[in-house]
Amino acid sequence: MAAEQDYYKILGVERNASADDIKKAYRKFAMKYHPDRNPGDKNAEEMFKKGSEAYEVLSDPAKRQRYDQYGPDGVKFGAGGFDFDRDFTHGADLNDILSQFFGAMGGMGGGRRRGGGRSIFDMFTGGGAEAEEDPNGPEDGADLQYDLPISFEESIFGTTKTIEIPNEKDCPDCHGTGAAAGTRRETCKQCGGTGYVTTRQAFFQMRQPCPVCRGAGTIVKTPCRTCSGSGRLRDRAKIDLHVPAGVETGTRLRVAGHGQAGARGGRPGDLHVVLHVRESDLFERQGDDLLVEAPVPPDVAALGGDVEVPTPEGSAKIRIAPGTPDGKLFRLRGKGAPLVNGRGSGDLIVRVAVEIPAHLNSRQRKALEDFQAAYEDRSYPQARAYRDRIAAFLKAKESLRK
Ligand SMILES: [Zn+2]
Ligand SMILES: [Zn+2]
Repeated sequence: MAAEQDYYKILGVERNASADDIKKAYRKFAMKYHPDRNPGDKNAEEMFKKGSEAYEVLSDPAKRQRYDQYGPDGVKFGAGGFDFDRDFTHGADLNDILSQFFGAMGGMGGGRRRGGGRSIFDMFTGGGAEAEEDPNGPEDGADLQYDLPISFEESIFGTTKTIEIPNEKDCPDCHGTGAAAGTRRETCKQCGGTGYVTTRQAFFQMRQPCPVCRGAGTIVKTPCRTCSGSGRLRDRAKIDLHVPAGVETGTRLRVAGHGQAGARGGRPGDLHVVLHVRESDLFERQGDDLLVEAPVPPDVAALGGDVEVPTPEGSAKIRIAPGTPDGKLFRLRGKGAPLVNGRGSGDLIVRVAVEIPAHLNSRQRKALEDFQAAYEDRSYPQARAYRDRIAAFLKAKESLRK
């Protein structure tokens, strides 16, 4: 049997591994390969698919025995079987696996499972002690993410943005049932209202969502005209979003209750607005500090003087000492970006950029020629050190030739 087909090898367990060992191995496996942890990684996705398939078989004593006896062909999913790609790999999120499938593991956090959201694992493991959820009960809406671009100035000073979120809502005419006024949804005859049908594949039973009612357990005989029987209508929500001063790219603002609308009376999810700050051509943000590059004429750098620099609040002056080198940094405490919690600000860092004059008038040219004529070695310690290093190099080279 090829290694990639060997379910035991995929999960990294011995052939005589206990059910508990297999469970533990799969948990470790899921933590590593789940698509949520490896966004966009096709290999991880493929691995996760294989491992999940392996676990699906090895965790079921009957299937495991069948597999041990006949190999993968003994447990293959035939036509009409479960579509792993579509439903399994993407349908279950990692927290579902960790918190629902394996029971409360603790410490994972974040695993919020809302009302009607049925984990695909329930379908596989179904028929256990776990009570089935009412497919017609309230279903909570999912959380939504919204990416909002803002200007640098808006990130520094704060703003209010009106954003429009496409959404859905329960149809008011049928209250989300999809059934025309005066009628009700009727129990699906195909599945007797359970929302599932059981099919027999070669060797074992499979439960699948009922194809007639698509898992709802009920069907609409007379569809509501307003929503064509779907029970849902398109909606747009306008939200005034307060963006506090001091936010940066990646800052998430949570707007409770403005995620996907719930269905049949379920609670709405939350909206998570992720901010993307456009770059400024004046300031560069470095954490809570702002960096600004100040062009300084060479005479000011050499003679010393005052240089005016912009700050978010206005401007400030820095005093340049005589002989200030190009690239020297000055830190102005508390003149940077405001902290998003409102407690003060970061620093403003000023980088001196000595600017060589692009054009000279006749007076400047004359002054510089006089300056040149008055050349003195000690004015330029770096040039002197440079010449010393060149001389040392040539001397070393010479000594090798002897
Ligand atoms: Zn309706
Ligand atoms: Zn049905």
